Amino acid sequence: MDKNWSDMNKEMQALIAKKATFQDGINKLLALRKSLFEQITQIVTSFPEEAFCRMPFAGAEGYHSKTLAYSIWHIFRIEDIVAHEMIAEDQQVLFSRDFRAAIHAPIITTGNELSGDEIAEFSRQLDVKELYRYAQAVMQSTDQILMELKCPDLKRRFGEDMIEKLKRTGCVSSTESAGWLIEYWCGKDVQGLIRMPFSRHWIMHVEAMQRIKNRLCKLERKGVDPVAYCGFSCNHCFLSEWCGSCRTEYNTCSYATVSPDGKCPNAVCCQEKGIDGCYECDLIETCERGFYTPANDGANAARAQAVYINKYGKQAFLKVHDRLQEKYDFTTTQEILGQGWREGLRILEES
Ligand code: SF4
Ligand code: SF4
Repeated sequence: MDKNWSDMNKEMQALIAKKATFQDGINKLLALRKSLFEQITQIVTSFPEEAFCRMPFAGAEGYHSKTLAYSIWHIFRIEDIVAHEMIAEDQQVLFSRDFRAAIHAPIITTGNELSGDEIAEFSRQLDVKELYRYAQAVMQSTDQILMELKCPDLKRRFGEDMIEKLKRTGCVSSTESAGWLIEYWCGKDVQGLIRMPFSRHWIMHVEAMQRIKNRLCKLERKGVDPVAYCGFSCNHCFLSEWCGSCRTEYNTCSYATVSPDGKCPNAVCCQEKGIDGCYECDLIETCERGFYTPANDGANAARAQAVYINKYGKQAFLKVHDRLQEKYDFTTTQEILGQGWREGLRILEES
């Protein structure tokens, strides 16, 4: 489990358990959920629609064997049911705002009853942007419920009436793989529900989503030119574990993720000019776009590498990078080539 999330979760559990620190615990829980939701946002805004129904770990044991779309649906259906049917005892977000039709969801359940191809087929039917809006709405409404909780509420338990009510909603399938959920939730008090599903459940599924998208990026990069538009080498890039290359739709390089349209300005500019990369551009020594923005700490390294490619070609560049890795101990290229682009070029030429 991600150490930061795991530590936040442990701290939150300890804080909410005591009356004196209860509110700090709720604040910690909200911060944890915000951090986890940022990961979901990043995935939704930077990956193509088709990524959400792919199953790169199909057949494996664990949450990562699902799809990205299923993971989002499952996290927030469970949360919606538990937060509104059990804790607030009001209407679920799915129904109060007619999200079901907008998402094109063929089911209203948690999805636990689906397996293998059913999950992929289900995922293909969902409108991911609407699904994300639903997830956002559920998170906000649950956060509101959590902020209104008082310490004694944590001990509230649920009886047979709640079990029957949940069954009547039809939101949990009665199949063997799903039916246990109702008894499971009703066996907990509110404090137990904060753990599952409002915190730990999120962590496990968001981590699974990270594994899925990293794997998709790796699959996408196979056979693709490893030289990025800006002049970096994807083969030697510390981001390559979770970036699918700026030459694919799975680009999650830093400038792509901070650009409103999710596209790296250098990649866009090269495509508009019809050139292979910035290393073919007459403006390479002075350009201040995207990676070459003066405030970017990778600007000098990117420019040094692009100028090197311009002079010696891509094959020589990839080879010099291999030698650089043998000669120096570094994570980011800018640690070696970042002092100034001419100095960076010199280092590349002498390596
Ligand atoms: S961040 Fe840039 S260099 Fe690194 S893998 Fe992504 S596209 Fe390639
Ligand atoms: S103008 Fe800048 S971003 Fe555009 S191709 Fe030339 S070097 Fe690259």
